[in-house]
Amino acid sequence: MADGRSGLESLETGAAGREKRAGRIALHWWILGALVLGAVVGIGLNLFWTQATWAGIGIQDSKAFLSHADVNGSVGGGVKATAASVNDPGVVAYGVRFVIEFGQFVGDLFVRLLRLVAIPVVLFSLLAAVGGVGNPRDLGKLGARTLGIFAVTAVLAVTIATALALVVNPGRFVTEEARQKLMALQASTAEVRQQAAADFAKSNTIWSQILDIFPSNPMAALATGNVLQVVIAAVLFGIGLTLIDQEKRRAALTWCEALADAGLRLVGLILMGAPVAVFFMTAAIASTMGWSVLAGAAAFMLTVLLGMGLILVAVYPSVMRLLTPARGPNGEPRLTAREVWKALLPAQVLAFSSSSSTATLPATMACCDAMGLPKRVTRFVCPLGTTINMDGTAMYQVLCVTFLAQIFGVPLGTGDYVTIALMGILVAVGSPGLPGASLVLMVFILEAVNVPAQGIAIIIAVDRLLDMARTVVNVTGDAAASVVVAQGEREVVSADGSRVG
Ligand code: ASP
Repeated sequence: MADGRSGLESLETGAAGREKRAGRIALHWWILGALVLGAVVGIGLNLFWTQATWAGIGIQDSKAFLSHADVNGSVGGGVKATAASVNDPGVVAYGVRFVIEFGQFVGDLFVRLLRLVAIPVVLFSLLAAVGGVGNPRDLGKLGARTLGIFAVTAVLAVTIATALALVVNPGRFVTEEARQKLMALQASTAEVRQQAAADFAKSNTIWSQILDIFPSNPMAALATGNVLQVVIAAVLFGIGLTLIDQEKRRAALTWCEALADAGLRLVGLILMGAPVAVFFMTAAIASTMGWSVLAGAAAFMLTVLLGMGLILVAVYPSVMRLLTPARGPNGEPRLTAREVWKALLPAQVLAFSSSSSTATLPATMACCDAMGLPKRVTRFVCPLGTTINMDGTAMYQVLCVTFLAQIFGVPLGTGDYVTIALMGILVAVGSPGLPGASLVLMVFILEAVNVPAQGIAIIIAVDRLLDMARTVVNVTGDAAASVVVAQGEREVVSADGSRVG
C-alpha cells in the first residue's frame, strides 16, 4: 500500500487531513465495530424479543402494527382485525416502531446514495479509462489482461466449489424432516422465481439475450440502472473518444475524469455515515433472520463459508503473488495480501452489509486508489469487474446446485459437473450486483442437470447470510484483479497520485 492508509482515510488527503486523523480511530474501524455491534444487537433481539414482549407493550399483531395497518382495533390497509390481532399500543410501542423505521430509513438512504453515485462512476470512469488509453493495441492488452484474470479466478472458484461439494457432500447432513421444513418455508417465493425464470426463457432466445447486452438507448440504460448496458455503452464511446481529434479528446477526458473524481469524493462524504447505517442494516438482518431454520442446512452453509474463505485467504493471495513481479521498476516490493485486505476492509464491510457489489463499487475504487494502484487501471477493472467478475456468485451457484442434487438424490456425472461449473460462471457474468440477484438464474442450471427446480425454496430460506458473504468475495475479486493487472503493468503510483512505475 502506498502509505499504509485505508481506502477511507485516503479520501481525506493533505497535511490538514493527516493532522485531523492523528489520535483518532480510523473510520474503517468504526464501520467494522458497527458491524459487530449491529450483529450482536440483532441476534440479541432475535433471541429475546418475543411475542410476549410485544404483548407487554400492547401489541398483539406486530406485523399489522409495524405496517400501520391495525391500531386500536381500527382496520386500515385492507387488514381485517380479529380479537387476537387488536393492538393497544402505548407510547413505548410507538417508540419502538419509530426506532425500527428510523433504522430502516438510515440503511435505505445510505444504500440509495451509494447507488446514486455508482452508475455515474461506472460511466465516467470507463469513459476516462478507455478513452485515455490512446491506442487500440494498449486497450486490447488492458482488456485481455483483465478478462484473463477474471477467467482465471472464476475457473478456480468453480473448481474449488466442485471439489468441496464432492468431498464434504453437505447434502448428506440434511434430514428428510429438515428438507421438508426448509422447502415449505419459502415454497411460494420459489414458485415466483421459477415462474420468472420460465417467462425469461420463453421470451428470450440466446440471440436476444446477447442482443440485450447492447443498449439501443444508452440514456434508458442509465435511467433504469442496467449496469451491463452502461458498461458496453461506456466502452464503445470510450473507443470512439480514442478516434477523435486529440484536443477534443483531451477536453472530453478532463470532464470525465473530473466527474469520476467528484463521484469518488462524494462517496468519501457518504461513507462518513457508514458506521450508523451499517449498524442498523446489520441489526435489521440479524434480528429478522430465521436462525432456527438455518440449523437444518448448517453443513451446507458452513461449506459455502469455507469455500468463500478459501477464495479470500488462499486463491486471491496466491494469484496476486504468482501473477505479479516481486519488485516494481523502482525496486518497491509488490503489495502483500495483508496490505490489500487492510486497504479494502471498508469496501468489504459495505459489501457484507449491503449485499450489493454495485452499491459498493465507488468504495471499492476509492480503496484501490488508496493502495496506490493507477487510476487508469482501477477505473477500467473495477466497473467491469462489478458487472462480470463475480467469483463468489459462481462458487455459490455450483455449491447450491450440487447440494440440491445431493438432497434430492439426483446422480451427477462428470459431464454434469462441467455443465454446472460453466453455467455457474455464465450466471455470475450475467447477474447484476444486487442483493439476491443470482438466485433466479440458478433455476436454469437446476433444469439443465435435472435437479427439481422447486428445491430453490431451500436455498432462499438460507440465502441472506450467504449473499452477504459472496458479495464480499465478488468485491474482493475486483480489487485483486486490479492489483494483478496494475502490478503486471509495473505501474504503481505514489500517494500523491504521481506515477512511480
Ligand atoms: N449480491 C451479489 C452481488 O451484489 C450478487 C448475487 O450473487 O446475488 O455481488
